Amino acid sequence: MPTEFPVTIAEPARATPVMARPDVLVVGAGAAGLAAAAAAARAGASTLMIERQGFLGGTLSAVTLGGLCGAYRHGSEGLRPVVGGLWDELKSRLQARDALGPPRVSATVRGVHGLPYDPERLKLVADEWMTAAGVDVITGVVLADVQMSGPDVAAVLVQTRAGRRAIVPRVVIDASGDAEAVALAGGAVSYAGEGAVQSPSAMFRMAPVDRAAFGAISRHDLTRLLENANADGAALPRTTVAVFPYLAGSEMHLNATRVTRADGGGFNPMDPLECAAAEREGRQQVYAYEKVFRQRVPGFQRARVTAIGAALGIRESRRIHGDAELTEQAVMQCDKPHDRIACCAWPVEDHVAGRETVWRPLPPGDWYGISYGCLLPRGLRNVIVAGRCLSASHIAQASARISAACLAMGEAAGVAAAMALTHQSGEQGDVRVNVTQLQDTLRAHGAILDPQ
Ligand SMILES: Cc1cc2nc3c(=O)[nH]c(=O)nc-3n(C[C@H](O)[C@H](O)[C@H](O)COP(=O)(O)OP(=O)(O)OC[C@H]3O[C@@H](n4cnc5c(N)ncnc54)[C@H](O)[C@@H]3O)c2cc1C
Repeated sequence: MPTEFPVTIAEPARATPVMARPDVLVVGAGAAGLAAAAAAARAGASTLMIERQGFLGGTLSAVTLGGLCGAYRHGSEGLRPVVGGLWDELKSRLQARDALGPPRVSATVRGVHGLPYDPERLKLVADEWMTAAGVDVITGVVLADVQMSGPDVAAVLVQTRAGRRAIVPRVVIDASGDAEAVALAGGAVSYAGEGAVQSPSAMFRMAPVDRAAFGAISRHDLTRLLENANADGAALPRTTVAVFPYLAGSEMHLNATRVTRADGGGFNPMDPLECAAAEREGRQQVYAYEKVFRQRVPGFQRARVTAIGAALGIRESRRIHGDAELTEQAVMQCDKPHDRIACCAWPVEDHVAGRETVWRPLPPGDWYGISYGCLLPRGLRNVIVAGRCLSASHIAQASARISAACLAMGEAAGVAAAMALTHQSGEQGDVRVNVTQLQDTLRAHGAILDPQ
């Protein structure tokens, strides 16, 4: 089947029922969207969040991760936080539901740590969090189109089980990960298919694993075992893999697969046919790893695949072109722009084609700031972006996409969206708000803009 569709049909014009008129519409319920919605609602804006999956959490629950990462920098004094505010609230809520473990620090890559969590309970925690914050949530709804009024998104069209519906928001926060709203609105975006792209992965868990037996081998030993399997014909796409103990018991989370196109080229996450093929390829790879782990990796002899993320994990797709852009140099030099609204200390984590992952740690203990302008799509007035589709270069995004940084961006976007409403009623808001006031409000709520 061709991947391009040159023949078109004309859709008939139709009258679409308006289902909601929120102050703030948040598209996408990942780390960024959850924080954005909670922050906007807490600031008094009527807030609606829409999500295409039947549950909240985005990558955190649909893909599943080995740990929640990016909330700390690593210096001589140990782990010090670079993200606070709503991150602390999410952490407390997960802890109260027995769904979060203490941070684990990598012995091999500087700056790498993660808090093991339960992705199923995270769905429940996210429901409870949004209810407590007063956010209206509609799941199973797909953003399909927008209607513009000059530089403003005047209406958003969504596909629901009941058919097409319209939402008339004053401000839109695009936390879709794919910059869906910005692209539909004609804002400036580039997408990964145009150049180097971080490879996606299907994440999975295996059990029962004998943790003691597995713990006796080093990461280097594991790579060697997988390389040996490849030498014997296994054809695993990646041999430097990450295996994390799940919260408790004998289950392990594996971040091991690496999906490319059948011809070995970089996968295009915006192409529907390539996406469908990639989901299938991800599952094939999961079972190829299962076979090798059972045969060759100590502790895994009796283990089976117990879960595969409901969706393939997309690390990078569209990125916006914003008023500012986070560059590779700014990340590696740890720039601290005066208009920063979030901080990050995560290394550049480059999932290039080939069997390795390339890590580039930041200077020990240091961190960089993300400008508010990285969330503001050029050419649009009432749209803010949060999360992995921020304005950043390919390499800079390979650091800033980490979940704690996405959550921090979301909190800033939510506060800014509410600020954009204060002077007009009923009209669309201008999201180019006073950044000093935005920072003051973020600090007042415990967000970290000056890590100590
Ligand atoms: C394989 C993989 C491994 C990773 N490992 C880690 C890790 O170990 N630790 C860590 O901290 N981070 C990890 N990350 C990075 C991190 O998890 C993500 O970058 C981050 O969570 C992204 O958050 P987000 O809110 O920006 O986007 P997402 O989590 O992608 O959320 C976007 C949401 O928008 C919804 N959406 C999209 N389009 C539409 C539409 N048209 N209509 C309605 N809803 C829509 C999606 O369904 C989704 O729920 C990993 C990422 C991947 C892919």
